[in-house]
Amino acid sequence: MRLPKQCTYCNKLIPANRKSSARYCSDACYYEAKKERSAKQYNSKQVFINRFREYEQILANFYPLYLKGQVITYDVLDQLQFDWGIANGELQDSKLCVWKVIGKYCYLINTDKTISIELCNNSNK
Ligand SMILES: [Zn+2]
Repeated sequence: MRLPKQCTYCNKLIPANRKSSARYCSDACYYEAKKERSAKQYNSKQVFINRFREYEQILANFYPLYLKGQVITYDVLDQLQFDWGIANGELQDSKLCVWKVIGKYCYLINTDKTISIELCNNSNK
């Protein structure tokens, strides 16, 4: 005879008539646990998307200034806690510089620590 296991969701003992591999006491607990898991996944995805939007917005704010010739430096964005690791992808330009893509924008950190910002078309995604 096997020892009764506890339900992973509600901690009640799993009835003996359920499969020996069962982790839940009932189908209801199984579905509740599943629902919670996907809600958690959704939330972490949402947090990631929100962070993306935040950084895209920072680039969107600086882009018009950049076009007007204002020098945007690494330090300025760094002070806004810009996350340099986050990106949708990378693009290489004709000078073999690697631009990081964030949403509609891409940016390049130049060797003098200024930042170039361009709109990028996502057609090459
Ligand atoms: Zn249960």
